[in-house]
Amino acid sequence: MNILTFDIEEWFLEQKLYGGRPQRFQQIDDVFARVLEALDAKGIKGTFFCIGRMATDYPQVVRQIAEHGHEVGCHSHEHTWLNKMDAHTLREDTMTAIKALEDVAGQQVVSYRAPAFSITHENPWAVEVLAACGIRNDASIFPTSRAYGGYQHFPQDKPCTIGYHGATLREFPISLTTVLGKRIAYSGGGYFRLLPYWFVSRTLDRRDYNICYFHLVDLISGKIKLKSRKEYEDYFHEPGTLKNRLVRYAKANATSGDAYGKLVKLLSTHSFVSMAEAVKQTDWSKTNTIEL
Ligand SMILES: [Zn+2]
Repeated sequence: MNILTFDIEEWFLEQKLYGGRPQRFQQIDDVFARVLEALDAKGIKGTFFCIGRMATDYPQVVRQIAEHGHEVGCHSHEHTWLNKMDAHTLREDTMTAIKALEDVAGQQVVSYRAPAFSITHENPWAVEVLAACGIRNDASIFPTSRAYGGYQHFPQDKPCTIGYHGATLREFPISLTTVLGKRIAYSGGGYFRLLPYWFVSRTLDRRDYNICYFHLVDLISGKIKLKSRKEYEDYFHEPGTLKNRLVRYAKANATSGDAYGKLVKLLSTHSFVSMAEAVKQTDWSKTNTIEL
């Protein structure tokens, strides 16, 4: 089973962080249109985790996703990382986002991905809050270490139920592979940009469960410039030292070829489903329950 997911926030962040550069908006519009077109051509439905502000500020984007038959999930209201929120704030944020998204998409929103995979061992209570908001399915667990976020000791990278104080969510953790003894992701973000197509394709073939995850910026070709300290800290919520900025810069630009082209090739050679469909295809009686 291969799940296809996108996190949708670029228009909002472009406006907030850079004042809305016309050329950048054009690039985002273009790649979004091309993604929808490619999925239509293959008859593939995915899950698009949108921030609530996309529904309030750019409703045409959320509407198009729904009209093309994809699942609209929630990616927080304003892309605030969950480690910056307490339970009360997360509840308000999630309810606001779900309401905004449902109003525009015309579908019930029950799937969630935290910005920057920010459900970690430090905030397991998020499960209880999200479940209380009506969320049933989650794809926020990144079961190894990463620059920020990551649930380092999470015991598995396949579907399971996660529980906290009696509340549960169906979890679709990021799938991992081992390279030189290190557990790494391969099916999204910087890893997807970095790894060659054959490696990603072969890894997908070898595993029963894969979840692909993209932000639209991952799929825009061309150099990404070095962020200023302020831009970096606004975006990543971590100290914008020169070292940190250079590492992110190198990662962002470490693309061996065209990521959009790689995605289109994968869509031609593999089948994909949305998270809603994956919930139906999973035999939950055979999966583990993991208490956080
Ligand atoms: Zn995001």
